[in-house]
Amino acid sequence: MHSTHAPLASGTPAAEPFVLDSCAASSNTPDNAFSTARRQLDAAAAVIGLDQEVLELLRWPMREMHVTIPVKMDDGSVRAFHGFRVQYNDARGPNKGGIRFHPDETIDTVRALAAWMTWKTAVMDIPLGGAKGGVICNPKSMSPGELERLSRSYIRQVGRLLGLEKDVPAPDVYTTPQIMAWMADEYSFMQGHNDFGVITGKPLALGGSLGRGDATARGGIICIREAAKMLGIDLRGKTVAINGYGNAGSFAHKLAVELLGMKVVAVSDSRGAIHHPDGFNHAAVMEHKKRTGSVAAFPGSAPLTNGSLFELDVTVLIPAALEDEINHCNAQNIRTSIIAELANGPTTPEADRVLHEKGVYLIPDLLCNAGGVTVSYFEMVQNTSGWYWEEEAVHGQLEKKMIAAFSTVHQEALAHNIDHRTAAMIVAIRRVAEAMKLRGWV
Ligand code: GLU
Repeated sequence: MHSTHAPLASGTPAAEPFVLDSCAASSNTPDNAFSTARRQLDAAAAVIGLDQEVLELLRWPMREMHVTIPVKMDDGSVRAFHGFRVQYNDARGPNKGGIRFHPDETIDTVRALAAWMTWKTAVMDIPLGGAKGGVICNPKSMSPGELERLSRSYIRQVGRLLGLEKDVPAPDVYTTPQIMAWMADEYSFMQGHNDFGVITGKPLALGGSLGRGDATARGGIICIREAAKMLGIDLRGKTVAINGYGNAGSFAHKLAVELLGMKVVAVSDSRGAIHHPDGFNHAAVMEHKKRTGSVAAFPGSAPLTNGSLFELDVTVLIPAALEDEINHCNAQNIRTSIIAELANGPTTPEADRVLHEKGVYLIPDLLCNAGGVTVSYFEMVQNTSGWYWEEEAVHGQLEKKMIAAFSTVHQEALAHNIDHRTAAMIVAIRRVAEAMKLRGWV
């Protein structure tokens, strides 16, 4: 997943023709997600002259756990899976962040994602720290029973680190509300009482929040709308391309059409990419994916390589899959006005530089995909108070939070004449540093 071309996420076969020769050569030295996260931190720290002692603390996870997870498989054998939980920094509140099930997971992807969660909750000004979990597995090749046993076994291993005041997981790549339900159930048994608030992104029947399902995409759509205002672009009838068709990507399709009146002309998933100049109907693509397992070969569409999806002349480009999709190989060819990062870490620092020079308005992951964790926070509040909100209330509070964070980041970028990622990082590290100082850590 930290290979430069992320074939699993993009639906692009490894020998994708889009790859330029120079990129093919450099793919021998893939980007490491955690070193990317540190480079981003160092760049922001340099702009504000951050105290060295504070920076040194922020460059490391506070705590991490490596676990071996025994799982009885359907054929009677027992397999040992490996997983992680990284608690990056909880100076501002309990650790918070999703759990990914992915064959390419490593401790460094999880560390990077945990760092990004720390900055994300701080940018959004919600009283939480940052964490991430990951299990090395291929959920697509596992039965529902095997997935349930893996989910429960993982919680038995990391459960001692979790709790409403300690660390609260949530869904991420290839984990679902059903998986959250199994995990909440297992944790509750470990505690001897129902403790549903230990995890968010749960089904509604187990204390989930209305509006959590599409929250990541909804937050991103609000950011796109705000960015378009800044650029003086009328989005109605304008085009969108979406890389990745999981929770974030598919809801982004739906909401870009419904809320912004845009045309989604290209989408992709791990098995292929499709294009149609008139735009796709969300319900029809979802139905096709449900039936066939992929958006590929949607009737009437033209096939695309995933590489060319990134090069389309569209108003908005939405990376909604994995890390490193936008890199030194394709950044120069990108022709969009706005990039809305619904994935975590989709753009490398090299690509960031190129895009900033080209004048692309990049809405960084820390802000753009923060709708998910923001509604997770609302879910924690509802679980704690026992008072469940109506969907309009969730949407209203999310909108307020997103607009406030967007405007803070936009102003910070203008003030220093820097890119939006560095601006978001500065907002975040100032807040984390303030909490660490107040607590006497530095
Ligand atoms: N996995 C999501 C993210 O990366 C949501 C995390 C959460 O809700 O805690 O932001």
